[in-house]
Amino acid sequence: MTPVDLHCHSNISDGLLPPDEVVRKAHARGCQLLALTDHDDVRGLPLARQTAAELGLQFINGVEISVSWGKHTLHIVGLGFDDQNPELLAGLASVRAGRAERAERMAAGLEKLGMTGVLEGSQKFATNPEMISRTHFARFLVESGRCKDTKSVFKKYLVRGKPGYVEHEWARLHDAIDWIRGAGGVAVLAHPSRYDLGNETLRVLLIEFQRMGGEAIEVVSGTHSIADTARFGRIAQDFGYLCSSGTDYHATGEGSREPGLNANLPIGCMPVWERWLSTPLVDVLPPKLN
Ligand code: AMP
Ligand code: MN
Ligand code: MN
Ligand code: MN
Repeated sequence: MTPVDLHCHSNISDGLLPPDEVVRKAHARGCQLLALTDHDDVRGLPLARQTAAELGLQFINGVEISVSWGKHTLHIVGLGFDDQNPELLAGLASVRAGRAERAERMAAGLEKLGMTGVLEGSQKFATNPEMISRTHFARFLVESGRCKDTKSVFKKYLVRGKPGYVEHEWARLHDAIDWIRGAGGVAVLAHPSRYDLGNETLRVLLIEFQRMGGEAIEVVSGTHSIADTARFGRIAQDFGYLCSSGTDYHATGEGSREPGLNANLPIGCMPVWERWLSTPLVDVLPPKLN
């Protein structure tokens, strides 16, 4: 295992725990380098950074920006940027601005099925009112007995073609990369296996992302299979991308990995995180099975 986690969420976006508790949990599991990467918002970083400093855990700033690329929604993780950068902050505010209206349209789609109180009910799950997301709708629909878990809610109601899904324009890919790089950070393509792109479209994306200044892809992700990791490890080396690793932790019991540790990168992959290590990593063993 590698004691690095460069992708996880707090209740500043669609995670369940506050930023300080995410950091404590990752540290308790043996993490040695952590980035908090909430969707479209960096306001969890000061508390996370302070908590990491108290624990002696190496910490870097992170964010996961929602992007529209043609008809596809992509997630771009930014790492190691200045979280006071005005252009980055304005860009993220512009991405968040569309979420309230989108939530109203999602609720309207679901209420046509006879559900009631969907917007108010889902809003109660969003600690940060600017960051209402499909995950909060999913938690509400589980609570109200519509489905047994959030995964089933997505499948039945919240993915493209289903009644609670609405098309939405997120940030443009080159803007997201420019905001991250303009603030001194590194742009990483998150969980590349998740986008259901054919080989040719994926190739075009990887070429465009690199031309626009993207430097890394997530090879190890909580949402990747072992085969995905092997595949994207090869792809990263073919294209000359640095490699990142993150659990994409959101909440215990919702199917995502616990935060803090990741599988090792495939041999030959160049880790994106070397530049941020002030102390070398110490090898860790996998957590005990029980
Ligand atoms: P949004 O930004 O509002 O579109 O919400 C996207 C979030 O929903 C992702 O970051 C995941 O946390 C979650 N999500 C997306 N697809 C699924 C799925 N199939 N099952 C569970 N959670 C999902
Ligand atoms: Mn999420
Ligand atoms: Mn994502
Ligand atoms: Mn994520």
